Amino acid sequence: TLSGKTAVITGSNSGIGLGIAWELARAGADVVLNSFTDRDEDHALARDIAEETGTQARYIKADMSQGAECRDLIAQAGSCDILVNNAGIQHVAPIDEFPVEKWDAIIAINMSSAFHTTAAALPMMRAAGWGRVVNIASAHGLTASPFKSAYIAAKHGVVGMTKTVALETAQEPITANAICPGYVLTPLVEAQIPDTMKKYDMGRDEVVKKVMLERQPSKEFATVEQLGGTTVFLCSDAAAQITGTTISVDGGWTAL
Ligand code: NAD
Repeated sequence: TLSGKTAVITGSNSGIGLGIAWELARAGADVVLNSFTDRDEDHALARDIAEETGTQARYIKADMSQGAECRDLIAQAGSCDILVNNAGIQHVAPIDEFPVEKWDAIIAINMSSAFHTTAAALPMMRAAGWGRVVNIASAHGLTASPFKSAYIAAKHGVVGMTKTVALETAQEPITANAICPGYVLTPLVEAQIPDTMKKYDMGRDEVVKKVMLERQPSKEFATVEQLGGTTVFLCSDAAAQITGTTISVDGGWTAL
């Protein structure tokens, strides 16, 4: 099990990050939840995990668009055996109309945050003699779609950085990998539906089956529990020689 390990999961007060936190805690890890807000309900999420799993769970506020706050999150966590870089946002627009501030925010939150947290966490992993970096990239870290230039650039960047971290830690008991989900039904995906409906002039159901799951041959969304399970696997001894690679959880998307 992962008891005695501390996992820091960025962007984990909803969606995939929260699902991963739950599965890591069920596997015995102490978890640090994070987002940029500091509400009672954020801290309540950590309390629920602690009560149900008997592990320690904390919520730490830090804005992943700010490099110094990314590094401070790891410092405040105190130890970081498992780092899950999951925080992410999306914006959909043609590149010639893409708002510059959205481009900058997506590059900062979806990509640069992983640089800062990894830089802060690796010395802790080395001191502990064990570590796992799990970057939540995307099928869009391996392939492209129109209107998502910033997201796709950031996710391809994360996949590239993952390979570099793996090479820099190759002879240490540390691995770095990226998980590439296809479509998972979470608030982030939910938020894309109205814009996509407008863009394609379609109703909700049609957008889900024909546009969103168009490239997901299974025609089913992946679940946050499945992504949590994949993360737990990457933290297991069986995965000790898996490093510098991607694992797709995409219902066959990237096989097309
Ligand atoms: P979500 O919106 O439910 O979760 C995003 C998380 O990031 C939230 O907890 C949010 O609070 C946090 N966040 C946003 N901005 C932040 C900031 N500045 N500082 C700290 N935290 C911040 O969406 P999700 O679908 O769970 O997405 C999680 C990750 O999975 C993202 O990196 C996303 O790109 C990736 N992903 C999602 C899908 C999908 O279909 N949902 C597919 C592939 C990849």
